[in-house]
Amino acid sequence: MSRLVPLRPDLTGLSGYHSAQVDVQVRLNTNESPLPPPDTWLEELRSELSRVDFNRYPDRDAHALRQALGEFHGVGPEEVFCAKGSNEVLQCLLLAYGGSGRCAALFEPTYALHRHIASLTATEVASIWRAADYSLDLNEADALVERVRPIITFLCSPNNPTGRAEPPEVVTHLLERAPGLVVVDEAYGQFAPTSALDLRQPERRGTSRLVVVRTFSKTWSMAACRLGYLVGDPEVVEACKSVALPYHLDALTQMAGRLALHHVAAMEERVALVKEERDRICTALRELPVETWPSDANFVLFRPLKRSAKQVWNDLLEESVLVRDCSEWRGLSECLRVTVGTATENTRFLAVLRSSLGHASTKEHAQTRKR
Ligand SMILES: *Cc1c(COP(=O)(O)O)cnc(C)c1O
Repeated sequence: MSRLVPLRPDLTGLSGYHSAQVDVQVRLNTNESPLPPPDTWLEELRSELSRVDFNRYPDRDAHALRQALGEFHGVGPEEVFCAKGSNEVLQCLLLAYGGSGRCAALFEPTYALHRHIASLTATEVASIWRAADYSLDLNEADALVERVRPIITFLCSPNNPTGRAEPPEVVTHLLERAPGLVVVDEAYGQFAPTSALDLRQPERRGTSRLVVVRTFSKTWSMAACRLGYLVGDPEVVEACKSVALPYHLDALTQMAGRLALHHVAAMEERVALVKEERDRICTALRELPVETWPSDANFVLFRPLKRSAKQVWNDLLEESVLVRDCSEWRGLSECLRVTVGTATENTRFLAVLRSSLGHASTKEHAQTRKR
């Protein structure tokens, strides 16, 4: 393709990251919360909205929000950095620590944005593949970090799209072996039994290379807001601040996040519901001709055995159920990923899936046909 002006040479061939959006009744493809935030949050937001000085720039340091997040996690505001979604947090880390001549390490298959944002910041990427059960071989990981001496080692826990949380021993092990930052992306952290946040050692302040990244997009039912943050050493927070654009975090987002922290119990209720539904989906999948992997997140990866992933994806779409087609991603051939929805949505997903795989009860079959 001829171009008006040549693109940065290292970016040719790179395409934007996106998930196909189709108008469907049951949207189970992007791992959002199926439930809206609590009404009381919305009321508080409406009432504070009237007090915003819209003619003025927002608090550049997002101090009140960072203070509140710090209290939530038992750390100081100087250990919290906030940005427009955890993707911007990752971008700031890579702008501050990556760049040409530096290398980030990661373990495939994993969240595609880690590699993508590294490439956008001209950071080299070195990776190895996870085992067939998607666990990490620590000997291979050691060899990788020894060879490339990464400035950042990325872990995603629970790992998107495979679903398992990284055992704390793995994080500790990598912290000992990897020379640079160990960034644990915990976008789905609240659904998992363990968190790298528990590995932080307050007495090691000023020397900790562990960075934990979280987001309001999944558990907090606030994907529309674009708010993410990291908990890490004050030095890392300062480095991120120095590369973020001035006023990158607008007043509305700061306010929405701060007020959300008044509703921790409601968030935890939603998480409990999703976990219950996730386990129901996992149990149901075990009865079907699919290969499936355990999940500590709000999604489940599975591989249909009797029909192709594409055929099953199409059958689901025909019944207005959208799941993520991962079948062409490397390391995930013939895999689909379903986000846990409401009980009704999950029941519908399972019914259509059973029917697609020839396992429907007569009643279910009649119902899916009727729609
Ligand atoms: C969804 C997701 C995010 C969220 O990104 P935001 O920019 O906060 O919406 C981050 N990391 C992983 C692994 C995700 O799956």
